Amino acid sequence: MTTRAYIGLGSNLDAPAEQLQNAFQALGQAEGTRLVAASGLFTSDSLLPGQPRYTNAVAALDTSLEPLALLDALQAIENDQGRVRKERWGPRTLDLDILLFGDQLIDVPRLQVPHYHMHARAFVLYPLAELVPDGFCLPDGRELAELIRACPFVGLERL
Ligand code: ATP
Ligand code: MG
Ligand code: MG
Repeated sequence: MTTRAYIGLGSNLDAPAEQLQNAFQALGQAEGTRLVAASGLFTSDSLLPGQPRYTNAVAALDTSLEPLALLDALQAIENDQGRVRKERWGPRTLDLDILLFGDQLIDVPRLQVPHYHMHARAFVLYPLAELVPDGFCLPDGRELAELIRACPFVGLERL
């Protein structure tokens, strides 16, 4: 059995667009996982001052992994692409977050799904909207289109 998962990708160091292309490839090669679709790339200024501009995208995966095993796989890809963890929200070569894992609600110390802040991040909502059917809802019933209406495109640029 496989589960459709949506992964948020982000980078603001060392050629972000290439980092994301490499990450899409790595996601497709992860064990038990198939890359179903990749959104376009979107750039935006960092939410924190003094950091380079971000490039973001979303991937749709079908995976037979359990959620924590998928998180392990994502963190291995982050590490392979040179992610260094210093301060929280510091600049990074690659961030891979589990946005959605089927309809599951997950709240354990290492993993909260849906991602706690996806509902308010334009750089997540707009690429996600490229990959899902019309009328798509989050597990709590909120419609993606409504979240998008409340989250202006302002400041995003689609490459
Ligand atoms: P943000 O969560 O605000 O996007 P971030 O992605 O920069 O911040 P990280 O440093 O990548 O945060 O991750 C910190 C920890 O968050 C990870 O070690 C992981 O255990 C935890 N985490 C909790 N929920 C998730 C999720 N849905 N996807 C990825 N990591 C998660
Ligand atoms: Mg993140
Ligand atoms: Mg992260």
